[in-house]
Amino acid sequence: MDAHLGTDLDTVVAQKLDVTVWQVSWRRRRLNIPPALPRSEQLSSIIAKAQPSPLPSKSDATPTERRFLVNQPQFLRAGGSYPDTEDKALTAFLERALAEAHSLDLQPIACPYSHSHHTSLTQKAHARSPRPAFYCGKCDKRFNRLTGTPLARLRHAEMMPAFVRLLSQQLPYEEACRRLGVDYKAIANWTKKFRLWLLQLDPSGRWEAKVLLGIKTRAYIQCPRCGAEGEKQFLGGSDHRGRRLICSACSTTFGVRDAELLTQQRVRLEILYDPGKVDTLTT
Ligand SMILES: [Zn+2]
Ligand SMILES: [Zn+2]
Repeated sequence: MDAHLGTDLDTVVAQKLDVTVWQVSWRRRRLNIPPALPRSEQLSSIIAKAQPSPLPSKSDATPTERRFLVNQPQFLRAGGSYPDTEDKALTAFLERALAEAHSLDLQPIACPYSHSHHTSLTQKAHARSPRPAFYCGKCDKRFNRLTGTPLARLRHAEMMPAFVRLLSQQLPYEEACRRLGVDYKAIANWTKKFRLWLLQLDPSGRWEAKVLLGIKTRAYIQCPRCGAEGEKQFLGGSDHRGRRLICSACSTTFGVRDAELLTQQRVRLEILYDPGKVDTLTT
């Protein structure tokens, strides 16, 4: 069984060996075997083949409205798995931005403090300082491409390509922790930093609105049986027929699709919990 450890995600290994995820991760750590990361490109190769930033594709929703999938579960029972709902456009945008931020290009950039272009190169990248440093004559300050961004003190840069692929997915933080083998605090911290960075890169908020990681929603639709309006609770997990809702007024349970058909309405999802929300007033 030890031979399987670290060959795939702990959740997958646990299923294969018919043991708990906890047992797998405990044993793996005990044997000092690093966790398997979701397949993702190396940051260095992303940087190498970076291309100009794309724009988000047009959609019928307002640009800054988050779009949730009603049939996506917000919690999972043990052994379940989430479908892949990655927004490839957001991933590409962030990969491009990461490539620019980590670029080794020696051409001086504008000063992040004064936006002055009277800047010069002071140091090439070397072993102890992995990125070129610049100097602003106006501010008498040194800086690099990460200065002034939320990424300046972000550790584990090598994990960011795998992490950014999770940002657009409607997954709880706990699932992101399991997939990347890091703790809740790290996921919460990275999500906040990337949402803040997305708002810096694109103040219109169009890209930031694509981040769904960690957000939980509640559902509203008219009850197809008693007609009660208002919130309907999600019931357990989902199966191939989609998720089920329960009406608190008449205790009827019904499938999302059936309710939409019967009431001729779409289920409206509102944000119930958003742990990574960026407070633009204080930041
Ligand atoms: Zn300056
Ligand atoms: Zn009802």
